Amino acid sequence: MGNKTAIITGSSRGIGAGCALYFAQRGWNVVLNYSRNEPSELLGRLKELDASYICVKGDVSVPEDAERIVKEAVAAFENIDVLINNAGITKDNLMLRMKAEDFTKVIDVNLTGSFLMTKYASAVMMKKRFGRIINISSVVGLRGNAGQVNYSASKAGIIGLTKSVAKELAKRNVTCNAIAPGFIETEMTDVLSEKVKETILKEIPSGKLGNTEDIAQLAYFLASEESGYITGQVIAVDGGMSM
Ligand code: NAP
Repeated sequence: MGNKTAIITGSSRGIGAGCALYFAQRGWNVVLNYSRNEPSELLGRLKELDASYICVKGDVSVPEDAERIVKEAVAAFENIDVLINNAGITKDNLMLRMKAEDFTKVIDVNLTGSFLMTKYASAVMMKKRFGRIINISSVVGLRGNAGQVNYSASKAGIIGLTKSVAKELAKRNVTCNAIAPGFIETEMTDVLSEKVKETILKEIPSGKLGNTEDIAQLAYFLASEESGYITGQVIAVDGGMSM
């Protein structure tokens, strides 16, 4: 069993799975989470690594589920050092065509889910006087994006959440920072047409999409003891896109 424990929400694929693997490869206990399909491929890789993990099905936007994810983590590993609020969805449409329920659903999962997980996990962290909360925002939370008023609002909300949580918890040695990824190759971006991808690429100074390791590496640093004097920050990992 590794010494430290990280809960990574929405870790059945994409950025969350990349973070889970990155932490597990370095000896961490990882708490995986998803709301629909068990990540059989990732679980197979973690078994091969002889990693220490649990996998908890639960919807982060449901208070009882969020509380249970935290309880199961503590039951398995006694402590929670790191929470990565990564679970996220999109329901894109132009604002005039967007249904109110599609606005609310995205806010519920992306923003309310991050709040709920932070509320329950930080109670454990505060008692131990150590914690690192890492919220996955987005470049569109900084810049906005046509067709994503719901998603952009949720990701901008995560930035406000991050700064307020950072102020509330700083004296307890619990930091809270946000990562704002640009366009990262995952299932979420696979659905974009080639035409949209070409347009996006023109906006990225480094001229390429990022990969899940680009995010995991920063998350790993923000999770460390060494990052202790960094809190309330939003760090873009976007090939220069948000400049
Ligand atoms: P993804 O491939 O679609 O994965 C999303 C993950 O979240 C899946 O594991 C999914 O599992 C889980 N999830 C969805 N709803 C959930 C819920 N209610 N409760 C618990 N888990 C839930 O997405 P991704 O591209 O890796 O994105 C991960 C995060 O990075 C998101 O917050 C996203 O907004 C952010 N981000 C991504 C990019 C990018 O370019 N990819 C850029 C900026 C920010 P289930 O479907 O089984 O629930």
